[in-house]
Amino acid sequence: MIKSPRGTRDLLPPDTALWNFVEAAVRDVFRAYNFHEIRTPIFESTELFVRGVGEETDIVSKQMFTWEDRWRSLDSGDNLPPGPQFEAIKQQTDAMYAASRRRGQSLTLRPENTAGVVRAYIEHKLWDRGLNKLFYIGPQFRRERPQKGRYRQFYQIGAEVIGPASAGSESPARDAEILELLATLLDRLGITKWTLELNSVGSSSDRVKFNDALRQALAPVVEKMCADCQRRAVTNPLRVFDCKVPEDQPIIDTLPTITQFLSDESRAHYEAVKQILNAVGIPYVENPRLVRGLDYYTHTAFEFTHRALGAQNAILGGGRYDGLSEALGGPAAPGIGFAIGEDRLVLSLMETESAESVVRKPDVYIAPLGAGMNRQAARLARELRRHDLVVDLGDESFRLKKSFEAADKMGARYILIVGENEVAADAFALKHLASGEQVTVPRAELAQRILRKK
Ligand code: AMP
Repeated sequence: MIKSPRGTRDLLPPDTALWNFVEAAVRDVFRAYNFHEIRTPIFESTELFVRGVGEETDIVSKQMFTWEDRWRSLDSGDNLPPGPQFEAIKQQTDAMYAASRRRGQSLTLRPENTAGVVRAYIEHKLWDRGLNKLFYIGPQFRRERPQKGRYRQFYQIGAEVIGPASAGSESPARDAEILELLATLLDRLGITKWTLELNSVGSSSDRVKFNDALRQALAPVVEKMCADCQRRAVTNPLRVFDCKVPEDQPIIDTLPTITQFLSDESRAHYEAVKQILNAVGIPYVENPRLVRGLDYYTHTAFEFTHRALGAQNAILGGGRYDGLSEALGGPAAPGIGFAIGEDRLVLSLMETESAESVVRKPDVYIAPLGAGMNRQAARLARELRRHDLVVDLGDESFRLKKSFEAADKMGARYILIVGENEVAADAFALKHLASGEQVTVPRAELAQRILRKK
């Protein structure tokens, strides 16, 4: 038997109803905040993530699905019409094609979506539109050790606010709006037991000072730490805070925190965010060790955690990334964003909501009875579905008992019997399954009758 690859899974009904419920609610919330959808490719050039996420991050150093793509999308000269005037071009394109096949291109399944969005921002000069408020919903890929709440293909719902500083992209008001949106979103979904952990990781110049201080603090202790930390201590000491090795934690607890190194400006930004959160009544907990997984975060960094999730309790994370566009070769474009783990969101939702409860069951099951009745049933189904009724139907070969069982099993509200007598009278037997009450209803009144009695 061929099984789905390790770390991937099939989402089946009725669970998919919960996923759709989440996505519909999320789209409603994004609409209220004037966000618009962006869809970027599922794979990008590897370099985008190396530069946009950071070489020293776990994602880039360990978790990417990367391959060498030898067939670049260059046209070969074969597509040119025959004729001596095309010979030179043909030879030239063939040579380029052959060279590109030899050279190849490194591609990677996206492990996150911010880099792709910022690439699209640069590629399409989205700064012309002023402030961009974008959201996405889609699969991401990381080669991690699978466990509950952690998969190799998982789904993220994310948003990015990005644009030139003149459009207000740098303002702490954007940070606060994003955080308030997230609180609204979780509340709307009925997920109440969340904690917002908040920190400022400062500007890149604050971090230069902080990194120096970290290097100094690490020097005398780093030998006792894991191999990853020993490397990080040299290349990118901030990443030491990502370490999950239990023995290293007491050492990490003694390291300085970024808070001491924030400039007046960074401090003012952080204060302004907190003031707006206080004003709108969003509770938060400050966590000065929260640095998040990506290298380009500046100022505000945050995570929402949920108690029910256990070890993988981060339901979403995000932050400001004012230098990212420049790191990818674009113009200055301050931005802030987040990514919700949709898999984990659905897991926490399952605590309070069963998939069954959000599935819309059929309003009516049509039971054609006897030869030639499929046609009649199809006509009726078509008429009823036009009234936004959920309609399912059986087959003329089924005995009535079998149709009743099918209707019961799918939780239909009514069964509609379509036999020769009914067709002749153009009135049909409609039975309410819960009460057993049965009436004969003329064709023209069927939809209203089914709609009426909920
Ligand atoms: P990150 O981009 O690492 O900040 O991830 C943002 C959110 O995506 C996390 O808070 C998780 O909820 C979710 N997430 C990250 N990695 C995985 C994974 N391997 N499986 C499921 N969810 C994940």
